[in-house]
Amino acid sequence: AMAEATRKRGFEYYGVADHSQSAHYAGGLSLQEIAEQHREADRLNKAYNGKFRILKGIEADILADGSLDYPIHILEQFDFVVASVHSLFKLPKKEQTERIIEAIGNPRTTILGHMTGRQLLRRPGYDLDVDKALKACAKHGVAVEINAHPWRLDLDWRWHQKALDQGCIFSINPDAHSIRELDHMHWGVEMARKGGVPAKRVLNAMR
Ligand SMILES: [Zn+2]
Repeated sequence: AMAEATRKRGFEYYGVADHSQSAHYAGGLSLQEIAEQHREADRLNKAYNGKFRILKGIEADILADGSLDYPIHILEQFDFVVASVHSLFKLPKKEQTERIIEAIGNPRTTILGHMTGRQLLRRPGYDLDVDKALKACAKHGVAVEINAHPWRLDLDWRWHQKALDQGCIFSINPDAHSIRELDHMHWGVEMARKGGVPAKRVLNAMR
């Protein structure tokens, strides 16, 4: 349903990225559910016959030590992996930064999700050295998420020029948990424009 709604909105592909197994709170996927989802994606992709494509993704949790919550042979089954912090928000800056940089260095990480974890009017971001994290993203070719959810808008546009200067690419993601939330995409596009990010530096504007 999400894929079809995305196609109708004129997008050429849809990257599914459910929460991973640590995220029991958010219905994280078991290995069996991943296998089922991938079979379904293969079936639909065949039916779309090149006119539209579902990319198999996952939003993996960054654990305390910076590892991701699936082993590498599972992560290899995905087209892309979003690595995100969903726990231990209050680590001291040095530890938080090291943990995130470790995850950026994981060879399977494609995108670093909501880098600071801020939620507007709700909570500040985690304490991390954004500069260092951007450098690591550039070094490892990991895209910096521009999370388009109106509660997040993370990474903030004030950092975009810095990220561009360091050689980063971005990925604009709606963080959609429902069909309606797919329409949040435009907030991300608008913030990227405000940040001066050209389309050629945006992963999901590439072909
Ligand atoms: Zn997340």
